[in-house]
Amino acid sequence: MCWGSVRFFKHLIYSILLVFGLTISVLAYNIICLIIPDRPESSTINQPAEAKIVPTTTTQPIQPTEKEEKESDILKPYQLLYPAMYGSKADNLIEQENTVYLTFDDGPSNLTPKVLEILKKNDIKATFFVVGKPDSESRKIMKRIVDEGHAIGVHSYSHDYRRIYQSVDAYLDDFYKMYNLIYEATGVEPSIFRFPGGSVNSYNKDIYNEIVEEMNRRGFTYYDWNVSSSDTKTNASVKSIRNNVLNGIAQGKRSIVLMHDSSAKNNTVAALDVIIRELKSRGTNFDILTNEVKPIVFKY
Ligand SMILES: [Zn+2]
Repeated sequence: MCWGSVRFFKHLIYSILLVFGLTISVLAYNIICLIIPDRPESSTINQPAEAKIVPTTTTQPIQPTEKEEKESDILKPYQLLYPAMYGSKADNLIEQENTVYLTFDDGPSNLTPKVLEILKKNDIKATFFVVGKPDSESRKIMKRIVDEGHAIGVHSYSHDYRRIYQSVDAYLDDFYKMYNLIYEATGVEPSIFRFPGGSVNSYNKDIYNEIVEEMNRRGFTYYDWNVSSSDTKTNASVKSIRNNVLNGIAQGKRSIVLMHDSSAKNNTVAALDVIIRELKSRGTNFDILTNEVKPIVFKY
């Protein structure tokens, strides 16, 4: 075969076609291999992520990945406590301007019925964050709070700062007792609560984040306040309580007002009617706190 002959060119063309054909075959094989093994099984797509956190006996166990193993390690022993104690979070939160939420902590007491009478006379509703009084009279008052259309939430059973802020377990123990007492007395499963001393206080700084995270996980919503009557101060008078509330409420804004209906708070009761009437004359709306109300909380 000579250079430039017809045979030479024939062989050259056949060789080029052969190499081209082989290259196409190899490429096609690689593409098929890339596509087929990566197609996932539909059953693994549909596995819920929560299946690991709430194990059930009906599904086949899934081998956890290394990342998932680490996530499951985060599950704390206290998260397994009181498995029936869960609140409910609302899908949408309301932020209603020009609204005042009157809140009363540390009841029920002998003064609570007086507070209820004043609220009824003025045809407004309020919110009561209650403490652990298991006697039958206190249970009746809690029931009356609910029956008259007010909101009820957990404050604390013992109201003992040192005890409840010792650990998340201690906080949950106390909360559970109050949650249960409210349920027994009223039939309400409360979803809202207020920390004794407010969410940010000098007793809980080491475990504040952990408690808030756990209560959020359980679906409970807490409310601090942006107006304080300061009725717990030793020198609190009817006048100081009235002025603190009326001067603290910004016109047209929404306000959560802290007051107390524990047994020594006669001045609070004495100031209440004037406070409500003055706010009504300003065109203020009153409402109760529910899990749908956007919380006002302290910044840590
Ligand atoms: Zn309190």
